[in-house]
Amino acid sequence: MMIQSLDFKSLLFMSALLAFSFSVLLLATRARIATLHGLMHWVGANLFIGSAVLIFISETLSLATRALCGGLSIVIGLSLYFIALSNFEEYRQGRKLIKKPLIVVFMINVLLAIFLKNQYHLIIFNTAICVVLSAMSAILLLKSHQRSQRSIEQIITGISFATFASFTAYRLYILTLDKINPIHYLTQWPYNEITFLICMLTLLIINFAFIAMVNVKIAAELTHAAGHDWLTGIMNRRRFEESFAVSQASSVRYGYTQSMLLLDLDNFKDINDQYGHLFGDKVIKTFAHLVKEAVREVDILGRYGGEEFCIVMPDTNEADALILAERIRSQYETTSVWLGSKRISCTVSIGVCDSSKIGNDFKSLFEAADQSLYAAKKAGKNAVVAHSNLLLS
Ligand code: GH3
Ligand code: MG
Ligand code: MG
Repeated sequence: MMIQSLDFKSLLFMSALLAFSFSVLLLATRARIATLHGLMHWVGANLFIGSAVLIFISETLSLATRALCGGLSIVIGLSLYFIALSNFEEYRQGRKLIKKPLIVVFMINVLLAIFLKNQYHLIIFNTAICVVLSAMSAILLLKSHQRSQRSIEQIITGISFATFASFTAYRLYILTLDKINPIHYLTQWPYNEITFLICMLTLLIINFAFIAMVNVKIAAELTHAAGHDWLTGIMNRRRFEESFAVSQASSVRYGYTQSMLLLDLDNFKDINDQYGHLFGDKVIKTFAHLVKEAVREVDILGRYGGEEFCIVMPDTNEADALILAERIRSQYETTSVWLGSKRISCTVSIGVCDSSKIGNDFKSLFEAADQSLYAAKKAGKNAVVAHSNLLLS
């Protein structure tokens, strides 16, 4: 049989080397992109798992040492995978969930290995813990997200962890088969080594899938950075205009009215000149935060220029857009920004229009909103002006 001619120890050795190589690859990624969470835990996990494999195949170590050190390394490695995934997926309870039980697991290991000298139950116990830990990682990836938000890479990693949990459970079943001489299955080919090897190969697939998850996250962060303003975190002009095009298409298709608001902070040059640009940045950030909180999920908000913002409100007429504009204006008027102990207030002027008479194209809407904004500035600032009022006068 071909499978019998395979040298399992060499295969396991190769899988340990691969686990170490994945760690180097992830370390290099982490060195370049410090914002990715969980990578260092994953690197640690691979080091523990790789070391566990080397311990298991070592011929110089006793079965007792291999059972304790190898088993604990695998348990720590799988715990670190779970923490890495929790951090990566921003599931904050993950670390807490695992910390205390891990101390208990460690104490039971010491009790079984050193005081009771019961290697068989030690191996059974650690294998059962491995089933639980890998199932937890699978659940984290497959259950915690909304179905639509899950990427295919997350699903593959989750399924790989579930497969690992199933194989480990099968290994656990095999280990408990021979009640008279349980250690028999640990030392006899093929049950122990073959199930162990399958688990290791699954772990390598998990590593490939996790690296794919990292790539997806890097791509998402780059796409976000290309379309969002770094100071306020809201859409930049380019992404805003792209989003407008989508909204415009829906507006034409379904025949609804959309509104546009153009917002410009009043006398902002004076704020910069008096208190410095850094304080000016703080004022812009405070305003952006207020507007973000005020708009609906469907509204499109962009930072159009230095201290100019633009909002597009789908399926909203000018009268309703005016309500939001007035709310933003009045809230901002009473918002203070602190410079040390000094309280500084700023105001905003807003021009509002809708597509019912002007049409749906960006240029026409923007020009109308800009004219209204200009009128608001001319009327003494800290004001909201509707384009329909300009048409009447
Ligand atoms: P008005 O009331 O007529 O709008 O007067 P204003 O002083 O606000 O005039 P304007 O809108 O032309 O001023 C824009 C200023 O915003 C000029 C520019 O130096 C400043 N600015 C643009 N971007 C930034 C930024 O990112 N940070 C800071 N601190 N200032 C910025
Ligand atoms: Mg301006
Ligand atoms: Mg201004």
